[in-house]
Amino acid sequence: MASLSPSRAADFVTCPLRYRFRVVDRLPEPPSEAATRGTVVHAVLDRLFDLPALERTQPAAADLVEPVWADLLTRDPALGGLFDDDGARSAWLESARDLLTGYFSLEDPRRLAPAARELYVEHVLESGLRLRGYVDRLDEAETPQGTALRVIDYKTGRSPGPAFEGAAMFQMRFYALVLWRTRGVVPRELRLYYLGDRTWLRAAPEEAELRATERRIEALWAAIARAHRTGDWRARPSRLCDWCDHKSRCPAFGGTPPPLPEARAEVPVDDTAPTVCEADG
Ligand code: SF4
Repeated sequence: MASLSPSRAADFVTCPLRYRFRVVDRLPEPPSEAATRGTVVHAVLDRLFDLPALERTQPAAADLVEPVWADLLTRDPALGGLFDDDGARSAWLESARDLLTGYFSLEDPRRLAPAARELYVEHVLESGLRLRGYVDRLDEAETPQGTALRVIDYKTGRSPGPAFEGAAMFQMRFYALVLWRTRGVVPRELRLYYLGDRTWLRAAPEEAELRATERRIEALWAAIARAHRTGDWRARPSRLCDWCDHKSRCPAFGGTPPPLPEARAEVPVDDTAPTVCEADG
């Protein structure tokens, strides 16, 4: 079944060719310090909520960084090659602790009881397109007005400028749409925490906005299917090219893309695992 996650939808919006390299060609992307740090920080924030409420302190989060990194390294020993020496690795671990310190300036986890963390959500639209993704955290409360849901997403990069806030919130509305369609409740609040500059964005979505998001996703999917049919995956250069792993094969930078895979008559399935990247969140 055709499926789409918010990250890959954002890829297509920013650069159709980048989407092609990732979803259609499935070209490998080497691990980076930034993306791996994002994975560590997300895992620490997840494990933090396993602790009793009063123990969810900043020193406790800092203490989790080493064991989380050790577990990650056990699962993927190649990550050890990211660092030239112990000093570089120590500085990188310290930068992860610094981001976690930023988290504690935004909220106090001792006061929270999340309903879910790293929650897989999916919903199939009437067109047959399956929307899917992982919500970093879902808070839930019973109120006199009914169930109140708050969707939280952590970003380890810096907040976008005002011109890009709408694009950043698209991912959150995508999740809100899926939660609304599957639970019958429009989330009351969407929050994006930017640990890089210790700030946040928030929105209170309304049903009409989520219907508009649904229409936008359908239109986006139609454009993806068209590109897939015609093979016309346009490069759209932007400042994000600096973080693109495929610059060397991109025509906008003098490169040549590989031939399209044979089976391109089929609409590709976006079944990539959840990823964390400072460039795209
Ligand atoms: S280098 Fe830029 S234009 Fe080329 S594929 Fe990557 S994001 Fe797109």
